Amino acid sequence: SSARHAAGEGDACALQTPLCLNLNESPYGVPPAARQAASEAIGLSSRYQFERVEALRQALAQCHGVPLEWVSLYPGSNRALHYATLAFTRADAPLVVAAPGYPVPEQAARLHGRAVRRVPLLADGGHDVQAMLAASEGGLIYIANPNNPTGTVTPHAALLALVEQAGALPHPPVVLIDEAYLEFSDEPSMIPAVSARPGLVVTRTFSKIHGLAGLRLGYAIAQPAVLDRMHTQPAHDVPVPAVAAALACLHDEAECARRKAANTAQREAFCAWLDRQGLRYSPSRSNCVLIDCQRPAAEVIATLAAGGIRVGRPWPGLEQRLRVTLGTPDEMTRLRHALSQALDLPRS
Ligand code: PLP
Repeated sequence: SSARHAAGEGDACALQTPLCLNLNESPYGVPPAARQAASEAIGLSSRYQFERVEALRQALAQCHGVPLEWVSLYPGSNRALHYATLAFTRADAPLVVAAPGYPVPEQAARLHGRAVRRVPLLADGGHDVQAMLAASEGGLIYIANPNNPTGTVTPHAALLALVEQAGALPHPPVVLIDEAYLEFSDEPSMIPAVSARPGLVVTRTFSKIHGLAGLRLGYAIAQPAVLDRMHTQPAHDVPVPAVAAALACLHDEAECARRKAANTAQREAFCAWLDRQGLRYSPSRSNCVLIDCQRPAAEVIATLAAGGIRVGRPWPGLEQRLRVTLGTPDEMTRLRHALSQALDLPRS
């Protein structure tokens, strides 16, 4: 709740109806320092402010211990996923994704007639890296860690083995690790592996733990040869207020730590409640949980929506799974009440 306080009690996002637990956004709003920085930056935005954009790249390079040339900025990390898919797949060099998984790379591939291979997640929710490698044929392997919609993680050792084996193939695929939700977990980043792995791309975003989804700022880290191939448009073409807000977030590690702790506390409380209700769910390390609601999820989604609560969309092939984004304590209380009614649970 300290993170809630840090976001400001009068926060418009937090008070809005309907309750939005549908897009894995932050329930804690734009951090105050970021809000102030962005407001000031609007006044400077008659200029391109290339130095400021460069300052963000520099700060990110320093924060991750990589050279400046290894950092590319985008208006949201989706853009990086899209460009990488276009750059590294062909009709005969597939995009390899997990099922279930985040659909944006697959949508990009299908839009452009590229081959797509779906590999089911393992029973523990991790990616089946061996099967993904076997399917890769010199294309692009996409792994979100933690994954969306399950929130589950793939062990770091498995990811390291994947990039090593990928590099040794006669036609090495590019491997993209999407770390949009990494800050919620206790997993190590794959960014340190980039220096030894020319075919590895790691993406990050300010949309999730930092609460800047609508400002649009994401980035990719990779060696320049692979980044250059992704630049179908001018790189670092990002809005100045978003740059200013992102810089403020980078300098506020305490806020990030509060948000992580608040998310973990809500995840543990919610999962304990699901246990008491006898409901099964994915072992999430992220800011969402995929629940087996034991009936068509579309019906539950509609019932919750009628009560002013938005939850995640249905996932193809998982008709009984409901994805819920973790909210503030008050929001989670409201969700539990609504779920109890929608699922006819005994009162608790
Ligand atoms: N990657 C994953 C796994 C996501 O779930 C999302 C958004 O939901 C994104 C990337 C996109 O984030 P951005 O706002 O940076 O485009």
